[in-house]
Amino acid sequence: MSPVLERPAAAGAPAAAPEALLELRDLHVSYGKTAALHGVDLAITPGEVVALIGANGAGKSTTLRAISGLLRPTRGDILYKGHSIGGMAADRIVGEGIAQSPEERHVWPAMSVYENLALGAYLCKSKAGVEERVGKVYQRFPRLKERHKQLAGTLSGGEQQMLAIGRALMSEPTLLLLDEPSLGLSPRMAQEVFDFVREIHAHGVTVLLVEQNVHHALSVAQRAYVYETGRIVAERPAGELLRDTALLNAYLGG
Ligand code: ATP
Repeated sequence: MSPVLERPAAAGAPAAAPEALLELRDLHVSYGKTAALHGVDLAITPGEVVALIGANGAGKSTTLRAISGLLRPTRGDILYKGHSIGGMAADRIVGEGIAQSPEERHVWPAMSVYENLALGAYLCKSKAGVEERVGKVYQRFPRLKERHKQLAGTLSGGEQQMLAIGRALMSEPTLLLLDEPSLGLSPRMAQEVFDFVREIHAHGVTVLLVEQNVHHALSVAQRAYVYETGRIVAERPAGELLRDTALLNAYLGG
């Protein structure tokens, strides 16, 4: 399938909207000698929920990893609040206000729920501040509160997912990167995660969401970018994309 660029505004455009919270400009990322992103341009404004959708291996997670500093761009740049963070160390990026809940949960299995959460606030030097943040996460995810002292490795998959998201929230991010938050969850827990995305959006947090469940993703996002083999091939309002079955079939196989 040949990629058809359907997104005229931002594709390849060096100057994105001045109010953008995050901009990727001609972003190239490789794993060793294997290129995974071949020039991605996108822009997100404060308060938006934006979804990245596309087939497996299209480059969505790689994009998030580059934004959160886990991978260095080989070309192009990542601008956050107008300044470059491309290639900055991951801990400094957290300090900038960006947190990621990774695809494979990555909780520390031999640590308790509380200890996992507290580590998410490692930049917060006040114990009272950490406690306050833990309290907020427990309020949002009461199940984690019930399992306060339980070792993370003994939680169910869904609970570990909640914990990974809770830990990302502990840094009180301005921009939250969620990689496959519903992966492996029961329909009820997946619904809880998407309700949570709506809720944090209502509190002004900007969200960049990678999600295989396209229907869910497009029901919480305002806009979406469609990826194919390391490139963006379309950008649309989420509602419009949800109705565009031809495009979804072409790039997502239905
Ligand atoms: P998925 O939903 O399957 O994770 P994705 O769109 O998030 O898909 P990426 O994980 O970003 O895709 O992968 C983009 C490309 O980079 C793929 O070709 C993949 O095989 C490759 N890739 C991803 N991670 C690695 C890695 N750690 N080492 C080498 N290549 C990788």
